[in-house]
Amino acid sequence: MNNETAAPVSVIGLGLMGQALASAFLKAGHPTTVWNRTASKAEQLLAQGAQLAPTVADALKASPLTIICLTDYQAMHALLASDVTLDGTTLVNLTSGDSAQAREAARLAEQRGAHYLDGAIMSLPAGIGTADAVILHSGPQADFEAHKATLEALGTVSYLGEDHGLASLYDVAGLAMMWSVLNAWLQGTAMLRTAGVDAATYAPFARQIAVGVAEWLPGYAEQIDNGSFPAEASALETDARAMTHLIEESEAVGVNAELPRLFKAMADRAIAAGHGGEQYPVLIEEFVKPSAD
Ligand code: NAP
Repeated sequence: MNNETAAPVSVIGLGLMGQALASAFLKAGHPTTVWNRTASKAEQLLAQGAQLAPTVADALKASPLTIICLTDYQAMHALLASDVTLDGTTLVNLTSGDSAQAREAARLAEQRGAHYLDGAIMSLPAGIGTADAVILHSGPQADFEAHKATLEALGTVSYLGEDHGLASLYDVAGLAMMWSVLNAWLQGTAMLRTAGVDAATYAPFARQIAVGVAEWLPGYAEQIDNGSFPAEASALETDARAMTHLIEESEAVGVNAELPRLFKAMADRAIAAGHGGEQYPVLIEEFVKPSAD
């Protein structure tokens, strides 16, 4: 793609991620205008051919599409103060935040005549511009389709739906998955270390379990969506007995048992509610409720 055919784009926020985003647009041939509070962070991008906008308003005016990537939503609201014209422009906000912040930002931007997509970056800066960088978007589909070709310079782009909050929700859902898997692995690693097994020895075994469990998800998801949890493989009360075993073993070898106690407490509540004979995903009934504390 060359500069005559690639759409112009502006990038506001040149931290570690913003610089990677602007650099990927430049590499894909998009005329790229940048703005950052600390202007010196634009130097490398200017050497790559970017234009430096003197103000946020100038950055917004320079391109039909502006990518925003700042520390948080407060910084974005401060920058897009009411004297900045947003009418007719499209904003894609890739700043991390929660779904309520995304919906509120969309409401305010649309009130001022902007098209607004919210997004979440599931990648480190080094992955940006490669297919490994998954970037999630939510908001009006027509706005996504209008700029999809430009956004594709950043990685594998994905459209989730009209609700502006969806990208943030998928983002935190991914965090829940990541930390749960890592914590489970650390629990096992701590237990095995007491028997002289090092982390590297356990890691391939743990990986195999994680991959195996991942294979169960489509079938379990079907049970959740149907609201029916027949115990085809094992019943929750059987799993709860194994959880007791895990807690007792953790205590016996002198490692932290907080995590297994937490999921045993949830299973016990589900069993007390009469779900002991059903399959594990019936625990969704506990997860959909606000926490007790
Ligand atoms: P960073 O390196 O700390 O950069 C933060 C950016 O926000 C800088 O451009 C900074 O400007 C700007 N900023 C902060 N407060 C501001 C304010 N009040 N007014 C104007 N500008 C302000 O952070 P980052 O790694 O680029 O992350 C940016 C966003 O991407 C975050 O929401 C982060 O969660 C998300 N993200 C990052 C990664 C990652 O691996 N880095 C991965 C996924 C998502 P100055 O340069 O002037 O300080």
